[in-house]
Amino acid sequence: MSNRTITLTDDIYSYLLASSVREPPLLSRLRDETAKDTMARMQIAPEQGRFLALLVGLINARRCIEIGVFTGYSSLCITEAMPDDGLLVACDINTTWTKTAQRYWQEAGVADLVQLHLAPALETLNKLLSEGHAESFDFAFIDADKQQYIDYYECCLGLLRPGGLIAVDNTLWGGSVADTSDQEPETVAIRRFNQHVLDDARVKLSMVPIGDGLTLAMKQVGAANN
Ligand code: SAH
Ligand code: CA
Repeated sequence: MSNRTITLTDDIYSYLLASSVREPPLLSRLRDETAKDTMARMQIAPEQGRFLALLVGLINARRCIEIGVFTGYSSLCITEAMPDDGLLVACDINTTWTKTAQRYWQEAGVADLVQLHLAPALETLNKLLSEGHAESFDFAFIDADKQQYIDYYECCLGLLRPGGLIAVDNTLWGGSVADTSDQEPETVAIRRFNQHVLDDARVKLSMVPIGDGLTLAMKQVGAANN
């Protein structure tokens, strides 16, 4: 037993998958199809998909945002937990990958819930803010280009209702954030993001060592919206 988070060996990880992950068949199929793409490692892990679905269901999220759709795996985990009158604003810039996502949204019967915005996510988020949608969303999942994480986070915080939740992927970045000799631009950006959230009294914070690190930030009730 230990009072720190366990190190996942291959055997323990296999056990965790086998004894907890009930991946819907459609998502297994999408994982197999995406595995052929050289960028397949960008997809969230299956146990992380189950965790996202659980979170979205827990907070009864009806209006959600996703930044970074890729072939649609995480969006399907989010929509699976949303009610029929829900909305997922899905942001990406890549038409090839999101065509795959759209095909799977159709098959899953959630295409009506998803509003795909093919534009730089910051444009979409700022448009939502300027069109009066501040404080109207329940959940946001941030998983696109790492150098804009702070900007995405700030916009999402404005778009979320008090009590709403932001989940941010890859915040451990393969562990390189802990290696001060690593000064790669993306590593530096994620390190800066992690510090930004740590210093932010507007949110309740937990960094969960699932997948490549998932930071959860809940907008506090009474947080200034700026
Ligand atoms: N959440 C996805 C993985 C996302 S990969 C999953 O679990 O399957 C990152 C995605 O961010 C890619 O699809 C890429 O096209 C998109 N992206 C990169 N820069 C972006 C930007 N400026 N605005 C919106 N999307 C962007
Ligand atoms: Ca990711």
